Amino acid sequence: MPVPVMKSGLICSLCKKTYNYNVLQTVSTCCSQPLISENFYKPANSAGIITNEPSMWRYRALLPALKNTDIVSLGEGWTPMVHLLKTSNQLQQDIWLKDESVNPTGSFKARGMSVAVSRLKEFGIKNCAIATAGNAGGALSAYCAKAGIKATIFMPAQTPALLKEECEMFGATVVLVDGLIDACGKSVAEFIKITGAFNVSTFKEPYRLEGKKTIGYEIAEQLQWKLPDIIVYPTGGGTGYIGMWKAFQEMKALGWIGNHLPRMVIVQSQNCSPMKHIYERGFIPDDFKPEPSDAYGLAVPYPFAKDIMAEVLSESGGTVVTVSEHEIQFGMSEIAGSEGILLGPEGSATYMGLRKLIKKDWLKQDESALIFNTGSWARYH
Ligand SMILES: *Cc1c(COP(=O)(O)O)cnc(C)c1O
Repeated sequence: MPVPVMKSGLICSLCKKTYNYNVLQTVSTCCSQPLISENFYKPANSAGIITNEPSMWRYRALLPALKNTDIVSLGEGWTPMVHLLKTSNQLQQDIWLKDESVNPTGSFKARGMSVAVSRLKEFGIKNCAIATAGNAGGALSAYCAKAGIKATIFMPAQTPALLKEECEMFGATVVLVDGLIDACGKSVAEFIKITGAFNVSTFKEPYRLEGKKTIGYEIAEQLQWKLPDIIVYPTGGGTGYIGMWKAFQEMKALGWIGNHLPRMVIVQSQNCSPMKHIYERGFIPDDFKPEPSDAYGLAVPYPFAKDIMAEVLSESGGTVVTVSEHEIQFGMSEIAGSEGILLGPEGSATYMGLRKLIKKDWLKQDESALIFNTGSWARYH
């Protein structure tokens, strides 16, 4: 697939310094910030670029260039886009759901891991580690099993047992850590210093984001290149939130979508909502006391990429909304009973967050909204 790229590189998200795309990179050495791959596309017909492959690899031409033998795929992506007709009727708003729970290992973490582990394979990495609230660890373990790479998974001790067992089934080593994902992050930092393992934690490397951005491409393609007016995303570390926005910029350059981009809403649990502080005051206060949430994918107290998320919030005209643990439970039974879909707690948070925004008249009557089911309900029991 010939793609009209003018220039590609990895850039520091803060100072924009360029890094070599063809070398395995971690974070920027100038500012210790995430590296983002930057592609400058020229307009081109989507039909000549997207293949019929029923996975996110249909966008392979827009992903890091990999040899066939280096691609580690379990059939991730190309997930259903569901029109929630009853809910749309009830709330008098056009509402769509992207159901990511059908991905391999039951969450959309599969997308990022497919690209990241492919690159590790390409560079001959034999040993990697991650800090995870649960789902990223399961996904990494599965892709590493397929690639023949050793994975060590640091997860909070209170994570559901199923998530730990799943990693072990895939042959990974699990280390349980007291505290939330930030505590796991500190353990990983120690571990990689001692062992030289590659750190696949959120935004500590630039490749997972490329996998995650495929959600943005799918949304556009599945909605016939007309993006929803509002996107409500259950945000933890922010890879999906930032990845979608990146995809929208790329598609604008390719000429596949117009200039009207969605307002990007961040949903978090009231128990742990650092992005609400960032949005309202510009910083996380010293007395911030994060608590665990049933929506464990959202319990990221100090997201490494918070500044990039703040940029997307302001560029897109988005907002931050929080939901209670009680509301999360309520939303799951509502959508199960009316739409026949089991939402995970994070997915339920997007539904309940959207309801709050509709109630506040934050949406115009004729605006469409997209919510997500990011992980399978069955993974929480
Ligand atoms: C990781 C995760 C999230 C948060 O995703 P980010 O893109 O890292 O913000 C949301 N829901 C589920 C189920 C997750 O596993």
